Amino acid sequence: MASAGGGATPRVGFVSLGCPKALVDSERILTQLRAEGYDISADYDGADLVVVNTCGFIDSAVEESLDAIGEALAENGKVIVTGCLGAKRDVILDAHPAVLAVTGPHALDEVMGAVHQHLPKPHDPFTDLIPPAGIKLTPRHYAYLKISEGCDHKCSFCIIPSMRGGLDSRPAGEVLREAEKLVESGVKELLVISQDTSAYGVDRKYRTDFWGGRPVKTRITELAKELSTLGAWVRMHYVYPYPHVDELVELMAAGGNLLPYLDIPFQHASPTVLKAMRRPAAAENTLRRIERWRDMVPDLVLRSTFIVGFPGETEADFEELMQWLEAAQLDRVGCFTYSPVEGATANELPGAVDPELAEQRRERFMHLQENISANRLIAKVGREMRVLVDDIAEDGTVLARSAADAPEIDGVVYVEGADDVAVGDWLDVRITDADIHDLWAEPV
Ligand code: SF4
Repeated sequence: MASAGGGATPRVGFVSLGCPKALVDSERILTQLRAEGYDISADYDGADLVVVNTCGFIDSAVEESLDAIGEALAENGKVIVTGCLGAKRDVILDAHPAVLAVTGPHALDEVMGAVHQHLPKPHDPFTDLIPPAGIKLTPRHYAYLKISEGCDHKCSFCIIPSMRGGLDSRPAGEVLREAEKLVESGVKELLVISQDTSAYGVDRKYRTDFWGGRPVKTRITELAKELSTLGAWVRMHYVYPYPHVDELVELMAAGGNLLPYLDIPFQHASPTVLKAMRRPAAAENTLRRIERWRDMVPDLVLRSTFIVGFPGETEADFEELMQWLEAAQLDRVGCFTYSPVEGATANELPGAVDPELAEQRRERFMHLQENISANRLIAKVGREMRVLVDDIAEDGTVLARSAADAPEIDGVVYVEGADDVAVGDWLDVRITDADIHDLWAEPV
């Protein structure tokens, strides 16, 4: 049996039989038990119940599993059975009708459900190792909120739909409950992510879900509206310019927690290239849309990514992209040269662009954007704004972000002369200087 823990918390004995796959299942169950605060008992006597992870591969393994269940029942009396033999429920129940529950292999949730039912988990906050918001790899004050998985588009350079399948949106209530827990645990900024945020809920036909007893449609505008009531900043990533994005911009115009920030992967501006890329919303007049959005929200920050050197991209296509960028005056831009991805349909397109030429185009594109970015940032000097503190350097300089800056990918606001500040604090500052990517500020 697995090694023992200590204390008066509920104790679970564990017998692990079978192959390495079964062993991994055992590790996951043991990890979850420990994470929920259970102790693991090394002997039957010290255990409040015993989980037996069985093997059913060959007759001798079935025999060994049935013997192990019999021994656990005789020594302890409370036994939950899981694993491959669990798939043959009748075999187990015929031999040992007194077992508490039987599940099949890879059934972590079912096993934990049976454990909870027969041995309730401890609620001591000092021993509960998992915070209510779950384990996050981001700093405590911001968190990514995934609202859907997969994608219904077929962009020719991308294999995500074949890897992750079609759009699968989480019900609005589930997303909102997760967001609520995150905010309760100290998160100040929610970064909404998916493959195609604008399409959220299309697969569920925008079905109505419930949150806090209230109906909420599984649709991006309604979700954004509810998320912005939680008290944290809400930042939208991967938004395609579908018509209803205007509704999101209207919400941003209201000036609440939904940040005036849109991360829209435009990828190109030439209709010929966009068509070859098979981009969603390729036919939109994006410049007109941007103009209208900026009329509605003058401070709207637009971030985007682009691919240059896509197969078939001519000098004229690239010039069109440069003119578009000059006119669009985006705030933040990333640009990549095209590189084939195994399995992508773009690999069969004619007109491969020489990698050196593609790199030259990328450099020209980024040079233009640097000028645009620098001008847009310098225009902020003298303005007051609220920032969120990400870090404090050894010399006391505060590294923060404004509504215009997503973590990791955008710029930073360096605040000098701020005292008594901690990571995760809000700070009101006045902008004093700017360069191509970042701002400098003083507290107000
Ligand atoms: S690049 Fe296109 S196909 Fe790939 S995830 Fe984004 S929208 Fe979907």
